[in-house]
Amino acid sequence: MLVQICVTALTTALLVASACYTESPPEQRWWAAGNVAVAGGMTLSQVAGLPLLLHAIVSYGVIAFGLGLVLRGLRVYCNESLSWLTIAILTLIALLVAAYYTVLAPSLRARLCFTGFYFGLINWAGALMLARHRAWRVSGIAIAGFTLLGLALCWRGAHLLLRGEPADGSNSLVIALSALVVPLAQICIAFGLILMVMWRYAERLRRLSTLDALTGALNRAGLEIQGKRVGLRALRGGRSLAVIMIDVDYFKVINDSYGHPVGDEVLRHLARLLRVELRPHDLLARFGGEEFVLVLDGVDREAALKVAERLRARIEYEVAELEKLSVRYTASMGVVCSDQHSYDLIRLISAGDAAMYEAKRAGRNRVVAG
Ligand code: GH3
Ligand code: MG
Ligand code: MG
Repeated sequence: MLVQICVTALTTALLVASACYTESPPEQRWWAAGNVAVAGGMTLSQVAGLPLLLHAIVSYGVIAFGLGLVLRGLRVYCNESLSWLTIAILTLIALLVAAYYTVLAPSLRARLCFTGFYFGLINWAGALMLARHRAWRVSGIAIAGFTLLGLALCWRGAHLLLRGEPADGSNSLVIALSALVVPLAQICIAFGLILMVMWRYAERLRRLSTLDALTGALNRAGLEIQGKRVGLRALRGGRSLAVIMIDVDYFKVINDSYGHPVGDEVLRHLARLLRVELRPHDLLARFGGEEFVLVLDGVDREAALKVAERLRARIEYEVAELEKLSVRYTASMGVVCSDQHSYDLIRLISAGDAAMYEAKRAGRNRVVAG
């Protein structure tokens, strides 16, 4: 019991401390609040000196309310929601059944049996919610924790139902084992939930540091990291690597005529258009203001020229439809390939840039091979 209390206090403190960060996501606050309520309810149920109403009835309502908050946090994490009505119903069921077995048909065994099954099922509902999300690598530990806790509680409930041993049966192996499993599951849940949030932070940081916020294409840092990987893969596989530099023609005129927001929309439109035309493993990066880079694995010079020409024609043909106006624009492109240059992405990009400027000098809206 002492270990159980210490573990509950520790995991609750851990969740509360991690939710104290001002930018913490709302689900983390629900989990912390839920755990505080569960810990409070457990304390109430353990202190025998309290009035029966608090000790045997309210305590279970508080635990159910806390579990409801944890479920709400899990739903929020999965971009869904759990209504207050559902939480109120969960709480009310615990209160009513506990009151029935305390006041109307007093039976400690029946009360503990019901709460074992009831809280076990709520924990399984939590495991199910996360499992439906299918991100096993991220939420596997939390799912295991909820499943284990549900199992231990239901097991305890079933044992009391079948054997009818006294609730504090200290010599019962089942009770002793579940007393061991419950703290382990609590640790799993607390660490699992924190891990889930950490994973989200890491993913958000990765996106912030490697993706361009305006277009969603890779930024320079992202291009450097991914480009190196793609270059090495192509080199090892003996395939050619093509780079296409794309620069919007007279983009300054678009900005000056319609304003910067329209210019931004045109950049988004171009990024969308390029992405649709590419294969999933091709790289698209925004290299500068209105300059984009494509890195194509397994594409030789001739094929890259064909791709660039197809893209150029598509850009010329497409119209960027904005709120009240439609904008047409063209782009100039420089194409280079590892067959003529090296697999070094920096060299390829500077050669591609030179080819692209040649296309500008030659009159724009055209493709030039480096
Ligand atoms: P060229 O045909 O020679 O490429 O002419 P250009 O006007 O496209 O090229 P220039 O380099 O003169 O102008 C690029 C402009 O792109 C200038 C800059 O204000 C604008 N720009 C850079 N980044 C952004 C951005 O994020 N949003 C918008 N709207 N404009 C940008
Ligand atoms: Mg330009
Ligand atoms: Mg430019």
